[in-house]
Amino acid sequence: MGNVVLNLEMSKISEMKNYYGKQLLEKNIPGSVFAAKTSACMITAYKSGKVLFQGNDCEKEAGKWGNASAPSKKTTPGAAKSSAKGDVPAGIGEMSAIGSDEVGTGDFFGPITVVAAYVRKEDIPLLRELGVRDSKDLNDEKIIAIAKVIKDVVPFSLMTLKNDKYNQVQRSGMSQGKMKAILHNQAILNVLDKIAPVKPEAILIDQFVQPSTYFQHLKEQKAVAKETVYFSTKAEGIHLAVAAASILARYAFIQYIDKLSEAAGFKIPKGAGAQVDVAAAKLILSKGRDILPSFVKLHFANTEKAIALVNKKQR
Ligand code: MG
Repeated sequence: MGNVVLNLEMSKISEMKNYYGKQLLEKNIPGSVFAAKTSACMITAYKSGKVLFQGNDCEKEAGKWGNASAPSKKTTPGAAKSSAKGDVPAGIGEMSAIGSDEVGTGDFFGPITVVAAYVRKEDIPLLRELGVRDSKDLNDEKIIAIAKVIKDVVPFSLMTLKNDKYNQVQRSGMSQGKMKAILHNQAILNVLDKIAPVKPEAILIDQFVQPSTYFQHLKEQKAVAKETVYFSTKAEGIHLAVAAASILARYAFIQYIDKLSEAAGFKIPKGAGAQVDVAAAKLILSKGRDILPSFVKLHFANTEKAIALVNKKQR
């Protein structure tokens, strides 16, 4: 599947909206003016003036409206320098790569979500256009908007370790590091399956342990071949595949927290600060202590603090 981005005047976009009249979709994509689907192409026009064409015949369809924007020729800023950050090969930022990252490991409430995503080198400029960058620079609103668009652009796999299961494996003695290694590995295997027979030029994991420890954790698993995997801290800045994975993982985490909030009847906070102790105490008081394992990571010190708050209230 191909992708083309055009930068167009708003008057042109209005003209397009008329042109695609019968093919317009009811989709409410954040920041968009319209979305339309022809037999061979999905078209999304944004208020920024960017128009995204996706599909087999997208180049032909886009050709009706203008020439693809120049950025597709641009190189990734900083990509060459990035090799200094780890043992990643020079120029990895320009390769077709699978990137993976996780969210939720430091949050008392909610699961761990791990995403691996495949970004082809020719889609790097497109993802940049769509706003993909280090997710730490993006608020939840932006994360959601970008994730909703890129989930249809990049092949990815999401692994969600829900709280009940997390607590069960944690109690059995598994470290968080091992859980993460298993989840990253599985997500990457899933993406490799999805894109086969195509193979990525590189696989980049946002580093959370030493590579030797990572593979040690995977001793009993079918692991992705060592030679093809690179590790780096701050990998989001090295390849957009990691940034995309990070955005999709955060999106999944936010959605999960929303689900928990709905079940709790109040807004569940993120993180592991005092606000989560208060929220967990509130949860215990309204639903009972047995509900906790499906909401939180029990081994966090926050559990004791929440229980102490409950006892204080009940005294
Ligand atoms: Mg990370």
